[in-house]
Amino acid sequence: MNFIGAESPFDEARIVMFGAPFDSTTSFRPGTRFGPAAIRSESFGIETYSPYLDMDLETDAAVHDSGDLELPFGAPDRALEMIEERAESIFAAGKIPFLLGGEHLVSLGAVRAAAKRFEGLRIIHFDAHADLREDYLGVRLSHACVMRRCYDILGDGRIWQFGIRSGTRDEFAFVKDGHVVMEPFSARTLSALSFPPGTPVYLTVDLDVIDPSEFPGTGTQEAGGLRYTELLSAVVEIISRFNVVALDNVELSPPLDHSGRSTALACKFAREEILALSRKAGKEPL
Ligand code: MN
Ligand code: MN
Repeated sequence: MNFIGAESPFDEARIVMFGAPFDSTTSFRPGTRFGPAAIRSESFGIETYSPYLDMDLETDAAVHDSGDLELPFGAPDRALEMIEERAESIFAAGKIPFLLGGEHLVSLGAVRAAAKRFEGLRIIHFDAHADLREDYLGVRLSHACVMRRCYDILGDGRIWQFGIRSGTRDEFAFVKDGHVVMEPFSARTLSALSFPPGTPVYLTVDLDVIDPSEFPGTGTQEAGGLRYTELLSAVVEIISRFNVVALDNVELSPPLDHSGRSTALACKFAREEILALSRKAGKEPL
């Protein structure tokens, strides 16, 4: 089964989706390994047409869904290599990878591939959590450390974080020291963000940035989050203003929300991202 409307052959696609159903390092309640499959099956409950963007997945986008990687649970090193290889092969074909998690650690594989390919890569990061720990209980490859590992690759001033409302004193001190740029609690200053023209951007969205009242299906809920509509307008703005070369949505845990509203939200959000990207990057394959 593919994501709704993602029916282009690989060669004809502009955007290539793939799933990383991995939750081995999840620190609290697991279940994100079921995210990609749930997003695909539930996507048939939404329309292909977006009244927000006046675009339709069937006519205005060219998306290939390359399915899920078969990742070895308990072996994050190998899982990250496999994610990196898949992202590399999509970049090599001149297409935009769209990664569905999985826990947030999976982003590191795709970021490694993007950093190799694109000089001067920036990351725009939405999350309730800073994810800047040096280690979590002595482990450096954890979803609680994923942005710190990305920082290790990219260095100072390359990561912009929005919506953050949880972390350790050390993590917030790391931000104050100027290593990454954070807007806590919201994304209101997004309009002031600017990069040199053409700067490649990796967009990572930990869906727990959304308030748990709208998005309870995630392992580590944090009250005081963004509304769905705030996140949507922020991400549409980012895609229209910046050169987004890859993106991911992570941390949906379908079994933690029996109402299904979190999965429904994730499907609708992915549709809008695909259409916003297609409006910007076109639907013609490179
Ligand atoms: Mn995260
Ligand atoms: Mn988070």
